[in-house]
Amino acid sequence: MSAFAPPQVLPSVMSADFLRLGEQVDALLAAGARAFHVDVMDAHFVPNLTLGLPVVESILKTTDIPIDCHLMIDDPDRWAPGYAEAGAYNVTVHVEAAHDPINLAKDLRAAGAKAGLAIKPGTNFDDYVEVLKHYDTLLVMSVEPGFGGQKFMAEVLDKARKARELVDTGHLKLLVEIDGGINAETIEQAAEAGVDCFVAGSAVYNAEDPAQAIEALRATATPAFTHARA
Ligand SMILES: [Zn+2]
Repeated sequence: MSAFAPPQVLPSVMSADFLRLGEQVDALLAAGARAFHVDVMDAHFVPNLTLGLPVVESILKTTDIPIDCHLMIDDPDRWAPGYAEAGAYNVTVHVEAAHDPINLAKDLRAAGAKAGLAIKPGTNFDDYVEVLKHYDTLLVMSVEPGFGGQKFMAEVLDKARKARELVDTGHLKLLVEIDGGINAETIEQAAEAGVDCFVAGSAVYNAEDPAQAIEALRATATPAFTHARA
């Protein structure tokens, strides 16, 4: 999965100014972002509403950059394959919302995308190890999904450690992503726990220089990332 070659910082466009989305995507591309994270919320699975397939299609039309779609929506079995067909690089669904996550992973891959599975902070990781054998990415939520700017929940790092161990011992073949509250302090802990890809919203978009913020986050994560694999 070279587009997500770890350690990777994935800027979340949830924290962008939606009226200037194109401009901001271009700016982050110029700054060296290699993939984008798009948070799709439906006001049902989570109490917030962001954007949906038409906006994702518009982003995909303007750029070749890999898009990581994080679908915080009900009934992903029905809706998620459309994002894969539109050309998203990785389509992540919530295990709490999926009716048949194994078949859904097959549908996403058949439509040409990588398949990602997200788990909320309160969801038990061990229950889904078998399901994760069908997935390319695991998204560990480090805040309750729904809003940006929340505080990082360090206790979820146990899930990242377990996943890392299962990957290192060959039981799973996936990249571990983390989403929620990632900043200069928390990214180091996450990298140390074995996370490969770090979604960063406010830490990038609220920075005076978003380009420099991405670079600084990557530079902070790299030694801990390397250490976790030593
Ligand atoms: Zn997300």
